[in-house]
Amino acid sequence: MKTKTKVVVVGGGVVGVSALYHLAKKGWSDVVLVERKELTSGSTWHAAGLLPLFNMSYSVGQLHKYAVNLYKTLEEETGKKCWALVLFQIFV
Ligand SMILES: Cc1cc2nc3c(=O)[nH]c(=O)nc-3n(C[C@H](O)[C@H](O)[C@H](O)COP(=O)(O)OP(=O)(O)OC[C@H]3O[C@@H](n4cnc5c(N)ncnc54)[C@H](O)[C@@H]3O)c2cc1C
Repeated sequence: MKTKTKVVVVGGGVVGVSALYHLAKKGWSDVVLVERKELTSGSTWHAAGLLPLFNMSYSVGQLHKYAVNLYKTLEEETGKKCWALVLFQIFV
């Protein structure tokens, strides 16, 4: 087991896994993720997976927008099935 690393990401929920993914994509290889239970076993396990672009927080809306575009490319990038379904919402 590694005893030294440049970056330790603590927690394998969507935030930690995303941090690891984006670091790796930027060429960081000396990165470790530690999870105390199982990957996605925290809040991420309970999430409905909705990515509404319009919500109470501008920054969360921007994160959702980024994720919607990311999911479109993940299947091709990883070769794994990615079940992202794009629907539309109307707020009145
Ligand atoms: C019922 C429900 C529905 C939701 N629906 C949506 C939705 O539709 N859309 C949306 O955008 N958001 C939704 N959310 C919110 C979303 O789930 C959370 O904002 C998101 O999952 C948080 O991710 P996270 O990685 O920060 O935390 P978590 O997923 O909780 O991950 C944290 C991880 O860290 C690990 N951990 C904690 N301490 C340590 C430690 N000391 N060492 C190692 N590992 C540790 C935990 O085991 C866990 O796996 C929903 C939440 C709930 C509860």
